[in-house]
Amino acid sequence: MTTTRKYYQDSYTTRFQARIVEHFPAGEEQQIGLVLDATYFYPSSGGQPHDLGQIQGLPVTDVYIREADQAIVHVVTGQIWQDQVTAEINRERRFDHMQNHTGQHILSQAFLQTSEAETVSFHMSGDSATIDLHTANLSGTQVQQAETLANRVIWQNRPVTARMVPQTEAEQLNVRKLPPINGTHYRLIDIDGFDLTACGGTHVAHTGEVGLLKIIKLEKRREQLRVAFVCGRRALQDYRAKNSIINKLATSFTTSYTELENAVEKQRGELKQVQKQLKKQQGLLLAYEQAHLLHNSKRTGRATIICQAFADRDVNDLRQLARALCTRPGVIVLLGLAGPNAQLVFSRAVDAPGEMGQIIKPALQVLGTAAGGGSSSFAQGGGPPADLDRVQQALERAERLLMAQLK
Ligand SMILES: [Zn+2]
Repeated sequence: MTTTRKYYQDSYTTRFQARIVEHFPAGEEQQIGLVLDATYFYPSSGGQPHDLGQIQGLPVTDVYIREADQAIVHVVTGQIWQDQVTAEINRERRFDHMQNHTGQHILSQAFLQTSEAETVSFHMSGDSATIDLHTANLSGTQVQQAETLANRVIWQNRPVTARMVPQTEAEQLNVRKLPPINGTHYRLIDIDGFDLTACGGTHVAHTGEVGLLKIIKLEKRREQLRVAFVCGRRALQDYRAKNSIINKLATSFTTSYTELENAVEKQRGELKQVQKQLKKQQGLLLAYEQAHLLHNSKRTGRATIICQAFADRDVNDLRQLARALCTRPGVIVLLGLAGPNAQLVFSRAVDAPGEMGQIIKPALQVLGTAAGGGSSSFAQGGGPPADLDRVQQALERAERLLMAQLK
């Protein structure tokens, strides 16, 4: 049985009496579907989400149109025994939908008038509302023109009315969008002197109630442009959130918000400078460290051996240090890193003797692991925690093995 859609004539009533004409188990446990003789509840359709609220004190979790007979089904959790019920719609959510849906009509017409850009689809959810325009090639100025016109129409406080019009008559009118219908009449929404379109949704009675419309994001999607916007209370929330972020940032930069972009740009420049400086200093330090290690190295007939344990270093640093030292002829480097993830890094110059891959295995056993290995010229391994003493012992073992190799 088709439900009388009271919201077609009146979007503002949120508390009403109705009679249950059908009652059935709906999917999940404890849930029932209710069909009323007439309802103000809006079912999910046309890009607008359904209303929430309650029927006889039971929460309404879903409202949808039943395909077969166009009846509106209210899904509630619990049991209802009486036929006559009192229902109440969540007014804040409904009004939010009215503001944003009316805003959508205004914005779609505004894009049409300023850039001949047609709206091909509309979608609204709890926190976003978007329209897709048939063209992706709009300039920033064009987008701003549409936004300006939309807000002008909002502030003109034009009446918004709905009426049922026979299909043949509607086709003679200058209607922005006439989708195919299965009935005989179109429901036309008329924003006085500005926009006429077919729509089944809920709208405000005067454009002024939309309050403010702000486009917040543009996204090119192939040939189309997705325009995200906020109206009314959502616009206030959006402004509030962004204002709070901007103020916090301005305070942390000790500047005014108008100077914020300059301040960030300046800091970015300084950071680049500091990074450059740091790299230079690291290079100098590395050169100094190499000289120091070479000075303390052991020289045998065929090689110069550097053996050193470190703590509080990055293993990448050690690799870099080993590589740099091994550019010198005859150098063999045995480095160890103490800490929660102890590491050994063994390396030799191309012309130096010694098998790094062979001597690292017994050395790693001193650390309590054999995870690692490598080639004759470079080997690395480690993993378990080890203190400086333990790492030193591992290096000494490696050095003894190396000396045996060099004999
Ligand atoms: Zn609408």
